[in-house]
Amino acid sequence: MKDNNDATFQGGCLCGAYKFQVKNLEAGWQPRRCNCAICRKKGALWVPPPSQDDFIILKDDGNLKSYTFDAKVWSHEFCETCGVNVKVSARGSGWPMAVNLRALDEAEKLYSREWNKIGGKAFGVVYEPKSYTGELPPGQEDDTEIVNGSCHCGEVTYAAKVKSVEDVKPQSNGSALLSHGILVLPLKNDIQFRMNETNVREYTTKDGLTKVMFCRTCGVPAQAQSPSENNSVLLNLRTLDVEGLDEKWCMNI
Ligand SMILES: [Zn+2]
Ligand SMILES: [Zn+2]
Repeated sequence: MKDNNDATFQGGCLCGAYKFQVKNLEAGWQPRRCNCAICRKKGALWVPPPSQDDFIILKDDGNLKSYTFDAKVWSHEFCETCGVNVKVSARGSGWPMAVNLRALDEAEKLYSREWNKIGGKAFGVVYEPKSYTGELPPGQEDDTEIVNGSCHCGEVTYAAKVKSVEDVKPQSNGSALLSHGILVLPLKNDIQFRMNETNVREYTTKDGLTKVMFCRTCGVPAQAQSPSENNSVLLNLRTLDVEGLDEKWCMNI
């Protein structure tokens, strides 16, 4: 197949430290959404380049950080400055790999594509949710429940107070905070985080409207904030470890 513009896509992280191009995607290509814990928490939508030659690095400031776990087969690579999850590679080889649709230019248009679901959860080591050992959010009532969640590596854990698990639903339509894959669950004082401040990083989007907090080890964005509303947290619903919520929301939005 020869190169043509319809089949070529540019992408990169939000801060501009890393830029790439993917070529020769077939007409009607579909991204893949995997239900394993790391892909779910990142909200990744994977787009595999047809061959190694179809992935071209346009700019690399050396900001990409690799996260591996368990058998360390896969390297999940995110920008250390802005937290955008850019790609996944077979560790050490750079191939096979896929780029994250969320890092492509015009991701907001591409997001409406149908995606294929893949069942990575059934392979490899079963993910054990990380336990939260801090204080609980204040003001427990009979009609509230505590739910726990974390980034993937466990550097960031939290307990959140919700009306009921059945009541948990995202506020955004999926396109808000698109680059970071955050599915917004707004909370006020109903959450307690446990983390070492040096292990998280904040990135304010260029429009100044959103501050995203992500884990510096695994790159999972746990929450966002609107700088004008300091007491409200936009929790990333994808980071909740509640059986069933992953299939209900995370695979579908
Ligand atoms: Zn960046
Ligand atoms: Zn982490």
